[in-house]
This record gives sequence, structure tokens and C-alpha cells, in this order.
Amino acid sequence: MHAEILATGSELLSPDRSDTNSLWLTARLDDIGIPVRRKTIVGDHGPDLQEAIAQALGRAELVICTGGLGPTQDDVTREAAAQATGCFLRSDPVIEEGLRRRFAERGLEMPSNNLRQAMVPEGARCLPNRLGTAPGILLETHGRWLALLPGPPREMQPMFLEELLPALRRHAGPLRMARRVLKVYGLTESGLDERIAPLARAFPEVEVTVNFSPLDLELRLAARGSGSKPEEGLESFCSRLREDLGSHLFSEAGESLEQVVARILRARGLDLALGEVASGGLLAARLSQVGAPLRRALLVPSPPSRGEPAGSTLLPWPADLPSARAAASRWRRETGAALALVVGPSRGSGQQARVPVALSHAEGTNAQELRLMAGPLLSTRASQGGLDLIRLGLARAPQD
Ligand code: AMP
Ligand code: MG
Repeated sequence: MHAEILATGSELLSPDRSDTNSLWLTARLDDIGIPVRRKTIVGDHGPDLQEAIAQALGRAELVICTGGLGPTQDDVTREAAAQATGCFLRSDPVIEEGLRRRFAERGLEMPSNNLRQAMVPEGARCLPNRLGTAPGILLETHGRWLALLPGPPREMQPMFLEELLPALRRHAGPLRMARRVLKVYGLTESGLDERIAPLARAFPEVEVTVNFSPLDLELRLAARGSGSKPEEGLESFCSRLREDLGSHLFSEAGESLEQVVARILRARGLDLALGEVASGGLLAARLSQVGAPLRRALLVPSPPSRGEPAGSTLLPWPADLPSARAAASRWRRETGAALALVVGPSRGSGQQARVPVALSHAEGTNAQELRLMAGPLLSTRASQGGLDLIRLGLARAPQD
């Protein structure tokens, strides 16, 4: 069984509201091994919604629709669902009575609009709403399930958990979905794709997607199965991937590079001094945000201002690899930190910039010239390159 989710509401097509219901539903469906293949957002327009429901039912065994069950004219999900499935709507006397009672208890007269909420497609099951007036609807048609749930998350979530989930669980059997997010640095998207292609062929049960960001690559893995099988499948995939990617693979838990570096520094009881030119203070900002043990951080503009007193700039000026090395080891001595990283100024013209980086630690100094894409993200990329040098330096350094 696989699912599609339809989020209805014109506000969800505006720039300031997002559809969070489908994220929440996807996580719950994962738990019972029902993959979500497609999500659609449709405005409050009956014909569009009718078409979207009919098409989704043509593709998926389970279609979950949220929103548009309220009493107002823009709430058209019920009518659209009836038309899409060829069912008649009839008023359900029990729901109608419940609605009347709800209003009477508050001493209010029920507007006739609310009677629309008692309309149910023939043959459908009503899903009670403990927290609002709009009941949900579950319709089985031609072996397919169509569930209509209210839009407000505080009504939709308990209704899903209490009413729909038990029925789906019985239907879906013992399957579950397991996911893992891996992070990779230092490979291009196509380079990574080339390396994982044979593995993806060897493990057809693992679904692999590669996402690119200016900082790193994200590899999302998903596997479906019963019991502990999905986790075992992902673990075998990952153990092969560790060999293939070596030190390019920096996290198997979706962490950012600064989180990984901060975690290792804390675990080893080490602190860090930073001297930054091309990364413009981003290393200090990123590492302090995740609580990394920083001893000192120095931001130096490029070119260095003349007449600065010694100690307020990096000496020597780290314009090339040898001077970056010398600056890092001097900065480490001066600050007394366990490690010192210096990111030099960027050089080069056109598309590519070169940035010397050096890491000084108890066993010596590692240095490297980063070759980075020039442009507005250069300082972000330089900070990532600097973090990676720390990570690799920590991996090579003795453990105690
Ligand atoms: P409705 O049931 O369509 O009248 O929706 C009522 C309210 O529920 C909306 O104003 C939103 O605040 C919220 N809502 C509806 N759909 C979603 C969704 N897909 N994700 C998050 N909130 C939603
Ligand atoms: Mg709405």
C-alpha cells in the first residue's frame, strides 16, 4: 500500500502559510511502512479539488486529504470527494444531533451552514472529532481508501491517531519504514552518484536520494520491511558505503559539520582557537551556536589594516600555505588552545578562489589550499573547508 496526501486550503498557496499536516502524516505513515509517493496542495476550488482527488485515487491505495471540512462556503472537500467518487451525500442524523447538542450546550443557535458538516458520502464511515465540530470521513471505494480529515493540526492529529491509524495498521500488516540521513563533504553530486550507483543496484530495497546544498551533500536512505529488517538493510548499505566513501562521509545521523566537530572536541576535552580571514567570522558563529569549546576567535579583515598592535592580527599574515602554517602554530602557542585553525585570505580571479587553511595541534600542523567556487557564498564555503580540516585533523590525531 502506498499513499498520497492532499492538503487543501488557498492559504497554503500563499507565501506565509505552510502545509505542516503532510509532514506530520508522512512521519506517522512511515512508522507503519506506508510510503508517501506524492503530496499535492490545492486551493479552495471545488473542481480543482475534485480532479485532484480523482487523480490521486487513480494512483494510490490510500489518499488522505486534510482541510476544507468546516461549515463555510470555502470548505468544499466533502462535496468534491463525493463528486470524485460518484457517491451521494446524505445527512447523517447522529452527526446532526451531535452538532445541535454542541451548540445548545453553549446556549448558541446553530447557523444552518453547520448542517453541511453532517453531510456524509453514502457508505462512508464517520470519524468523530473530539476537539471540533467537523467530523472526518473514511470512504472505501473500489479497494481504495479516501480519508478526509480536518485542517487544524490539533483536531487532525488525534483523529488520525485514534480513528484512522488502528484501521490502517490492521490493513498495512507488520511493515515499517526506517530512514537515515548521511552527510558527505568533498565530493561533487555526480561524483557521489557514481560511487553509490553500484551499491543502489545491489540493495534495491533501499531507496536513495541525493540532495545538494552549497555546503555539503545529503544522502537520504529509506527501507521498508517487517521487524528489524529495515534497520538491518540500512546498516548493511551503510557499512558498504563507509568503505566506498571513506573520510568523505562525516555523519550518519544528519548532523551538520559544526555539530560533528563540536561533538568530537567535547568528547576529547579539547578546545579551539580560530583566526579567520576569508571565512569572515562564520566559523566562530557556527561553532559557538552548537556550543563548541572555543578558547579565542579572531576575525581579521583582508587586507589587514596597517598599524595594528601585535596580537590583534594574525602574524605572519597567512597569505599562502607556509605562512598559514606558521600563523596557526603561533596562534596556538599564544592562546594556549589545544588546536588552532587559521583560514587565510582568498586569492585568485574568475570562478575559482584559493584559500590557505592550517590547523595546528599537539602532533604538528595540517594545511591545505582550498579551491572554492568564488561568489557570495565564498565565506560560507571557506568556513566549511576549515571545519573539515579540523574534523580530519581530529580523526588522524591519537585518541588520547
Ligand atoms: P480548514 O479545515 O480548511 O478550514 O482549515 C482550518 C485551519 O487549519 C487553517 O486556517 C490552518 O490554520 C489549518 N490548516 C489547514 N490545513 C493545514 C495544513 N495542511 N497544514 C497546517 N495547517 C493547516
Ligand atoms: Mg480551509
